[in-house]
Amino acid sequence: MARINPEFTDELKKYGAFDPNACYNCGNCTAVCTLSDEENSFPRKMVRYSVLGLESEIETSLDPWLCYYCGECSMTCPREADPGELMMSLRRWLIAKYDWTGLSGLLYKSLTASVAAFVLLAAIVVWFGAYEHFNLANMMHYGHIFEFAAISLVLLVILLPNIIHMWWLTVMKPKVKAPLSAYFKAIGELIVHMFTQKRTLGCDDNQFRWFEHFILVLGYLSLLFTTVVLGWFETQSMFIIVLGYVESAVIFVVTFDFVRRRIQKDKEISKHSQPSDWFFVIWLFLMGLTAFVVRLFIDIDILDANVWMYQVQLIILVQWALIIVPFGKWTHFLYRSFAMYFHRIIELSAEN
Ligand code: SF4
Ligand code: SF4
Repeated sequence: MARINPEFTDELKKYGAFDPNACYNCGNCTAVCTLSDEENSFPRKMVRYSVLGLESEIETSLDPWLCYYCGECSMTCPREADPGELMMSLRRWLIAKYDWTGLSGLLYKSLTASVAAFVLLAAIVVWFGAYEHFNLANMMHYGHIFEFAAISLVLLVILLPNIIHMWWLTVMKPKVKAPLSAYFKAIGELIVHMFTQKRTLGCDDNQFRWFEHFILVLGYLSLLFTTVVLGWFETQSMFIIVLGYVESAVIFVVTFDFVRRRIQKDKEISKHSQPSDWFFVIWLFLMGLTAFVVRLFIDIDILDANVWMYQVQLIILVQWALIIVPFGKWTHFLYRSFAMYFHRIIELSAEN
């Protein structure tokens, strides 16, 4: 029997939703949504589940991840229930559900907790700098070790268990009988979506946004590789140096445009920004910018006299790696890719 949580819409509002109860089930949103078909009234089904407080149906559903927030449903809603933002809020709520640490939910719901986490990590990095007597070589050495350790730990200790939890909720709990072959056949879906996020193209008016996302993902992943694996801050190779400059410039130029759009609110998708949205774009912008400046300071030989610049870059990096990547908006990119993978597995199982 379905469990009903009458407080669910109040809970969802803490994740950004407006007023799902305003929905009078007219169906306009379903009529305009390109993801809607005869079997799935998209996004109205999720709106109804939310209004009724059917938590279990929502947590076992992949639907919120299939939505790419084109905003057309919100524009046509006569009741201003804002179904597009509701889908976004459901994605945040689901991230909190998947996360075994409980920190995602806390950081999404409390700005004070988020600010405290950022300040705490900044203080630890400053303390670490003082402990090392602001010795640049030592700080860079440990900074590089931190990059490897943070990537491995966040991936293995937080994100992997959360993805397994997501798989349990969306594939195992609904008792999908998926043969092993379906997991192999669907793997291409995971890779394609992880690198291209191509489903964004399903909504009208999204080509440029898709292109920007694509360039950003490419720039971000390659800068990560160039810095962590190729040792961008230590290398003398002209090719790697120029490559890092280009990648970091791509990141701060594209994210600057994201910040501009969120300030101007010129599209439905940019109208509502939660603190987690701001943290994501601003920290990504700062990551690209500070990495660019640190390498520039190395090349014009002034970093030794300006250790504070490396310290700033390290603070941004640590906050990014330990707050935004495991608990913040960065995870949307990961869960969405896995949602497409699990969705394909479910489709293949139904065909058998
Ligand atoms: S368009 Fe608005 S009022 Fe109509 S079903 Fe969708 S959310 Fe409800
Ligand atoms: S935002 Fe776009 S993709 Fe998402 S439910 Fe609304 S119309 Fe569909």
